[in-house]
Amino acid sequence: MDKLIVLGIESTSHTFGVGIAALLDGKPAILANVVDRFVPRSGGIHPREAALHHAEVAPRVLKAALSRAGLGVGEIDGVAAALGPGLGPCLRVGASLARFIAAYYDKPLVPVNHAVAHIEIGKMIHGLVDPLVIYVSGGNTLVAVQRRKRYRVLGETLDIPLGNLLDTFAREAGIAPPYIVGGRHVVDICSDYGSNFIDLPYTVKGNDLSFSGLLTAALRRIGGRRGKIEELGDICLSLRETAYNMLVEVSERALALTGKREVILVGGVAASKVLNEKMEEMARLHGASYYTVPPEYAGDNGAMIAWTGLLGLVHGISIEPERAFIRQRWRLDEVDLPWLPPD
Ligand code: AMP
Ligand code: MG
Repeated sequence: MDKLIVLGIESTSHTFGVGIAALLDGKPAILANVVDRFVPRSGGIHPREAALHHAEVAPRVLKAALSRAGLGVGEIDGVAAALGPGLGPCLRVGASLARFIAAYYDKPLVPVNHAVAHIEIGKMIHGLVDPLVIYVSGGNTLVAVQRRKRYRVLGETLDIPLGNLLDTFAREAGIAPPYIVGGRHVVDICSDYGSNFIDLPYTVKGNDLSFSGLLTAALRRIGGRRGKIEELGDICLSLRETAYNMLVEVSERALALTGKREVILVGGVAASKVLNEKMEEMARLHGASYYTVPPEYAGDNGAMIAWTGLLGLVHGISIEPERAFIRQRWRLDEVDLPWLPPD
């Protein structure tokens, strides 16, 4: 059998993950996807604490992924690492492990942009070539399409990302952590108790979004209401609806502008049922097909890094381990991607 196997390492933020992707007789396959997420006891993610977590779990996660795929390190054809964007101390853990594997086992090292990986795993799962991409996670919120071998950002958040808005509100409101319960965000669950829509700042500037005013206004609304679940429910409902509707507006404008026939939602917030329902309806109104990423591949994971690394390896992309620097602010639209279709 003709096969190509790449091991991918994810460590940009809260998640340490190792995935193994393959092309088996030309067909894509995910052979393993093992993740271990860092959950802060209180507050947000402290980069150094998350990095310590990653360093601690790395050997176990690596071994588990290899054993799941039934492979030894020597049997892989390349190692890929998410070199950015992300938190410096966290990125260094994954990069160091990748450099070691590449140098010690003499394997090509493929640099992977984390945002590109979120998109490529979704496209691979659904066999898409040229969709409108909506990427929403803890660290990113943007709408993009491919053109001239790069993803082009049509709209993005001017301040905090959507996942960060939900998480920060939940934490400050005293309803988190944990942020996700039974696959749902706590802001979403809390919205079940609300019935009145409260006017909150809806900020769309051209095709860009701003969520920080919405966060401040929603937190101000809590005031003395902490503890009254119906009133907190109203605030959660209004926050969720305002934020998601803002994103639907810019996505719809991008879809109308580009005339794409397919829409895909990727990133951690793609696990939201409510957001998917809104986006699906929007796509339907424009006669476009709608796709989303299964939860296992929606949040940060190693499989998406492995798959994107495999695409890179097929197209001759690799770097020397000593040149595999991390890039904390590596934007999606800075990366040349030879596998994208010609214009
Ligand atoms: P990522 O950075 O791609 O791993 O995505 C993590 C973000 O996705 C966090 O902000 C989570 O709160 C958010 N998230 C995860 N599951 C859900 C869900 N079911 N609904 C809304 N947001 C979610
Ligand atoms: Mg992510």
